Amino acid sequence: MFSNHTLQYRNTQLNYYVYKSNKPGKTVLISGGIHGNEANGMFVALEFFQYLKKHSELFSGTIIVAPHLNPEGFKKRNRRYDETDLNRTFTDKLEHPLSKQINQEILKKIDYGIDFHDSGSTYNLVLHARIPKNQCHLKDFMNHLEVPFCFIRDHKNGMINDFMNKLNKPFVTIESGGNYQVNPEQIEKQINLILNILKYNGNLEGLAKRNKTIPIYQRYRFKAKTTLLIYPKVKLGQTIKKGDTIAIAYENNIHNPIEIQSPIEGYIIALNPHNLIKQNEYVFGIGQCQKTISKIQIANPDLIEYKHICL
Ligand SMILES: [Zn+2]
Repeated sequence: MFSNHTLQYRNTQLNYYVYKSNKPGKTVLISGGIHGNEANGMFVALEFFQYLKKHSELFSGTIIVAPHLNPEGFKKRNRRYDETDLNRTFTDKLEHPLSKQINQEILKKIDYGIDFHDSGSTYNLVLHARIPKNQCHLKDFMNHLEVPFCFIRDHKNGMINDFMNKLNKPFVTIESGGNYQVNPEQIEKQINLILNILKYNGNLEGLAKRNKTIPIYQRYRFKAKTTLLIYPKVKLGQTIKKGDTIAIAYENNIHNPIEIQSPIEGYIIALNPHNLIKQNEYVFGIGQCQKTISKIQIANPDLIEYKHICL
């Protein structure tokens, strides 16, 4: 049986949908849009809901779908709810009236969940899961998520996934795409990963596949130091060696093309989809499996600068 629900805070109505099967099972949350400008997450939750409506007889337990956890941000195409990043308010105190309600009405009722995101307004991210370090209870769960990469990061207080994992309820963040773009192939992969994890947890008929994910411990961001016309030579997710060509670029007043080479080995985890990149904008990102930070020397220091990003 399907039912519609609404949380009300000031003028904001947060709608979510519950499917209760007559077969017993766990309660799961599939959510998106806690950052109101992240198209990917909202699309995945909405597309999954269509699938659920079509094939509801295959599911067991209770499935909660909340595609717009931040409807106010969505209206304004804004990451935040007014000035507040809602995904930093899930502390012990639950620092926002809406996060209090989300906890009371949704999070308290679930056994596990997946919250979908993307990079927001600037670049595209490779499909990956994000999990906090030292969450051993997530290991087997992660092996059934069917994501090619998993970013292992430090604990960040106030995020839903940290809040839930502290309660020993498996909860992961999935990221893919960005820049207000939705990639149909990536959406399909994310629907499949939901179906697989639901099978693993007994909420869907069928055998879950086990999958190896590449752990990413270090992340480097490469920014343009000047406005560039750029043509990338790499794809998201691809392996890269030190010295490989990442892109061909032209800068202001210089007619020769310049090769932007990778200063380290790793994986392309982020790419700017634009060919005209402004000064200080992200150009590409590289992730590494190693646990120590690499020393980096940029071949074109006038054009590109880098920053190590703490995950
Ligand atoms: Zn986000």
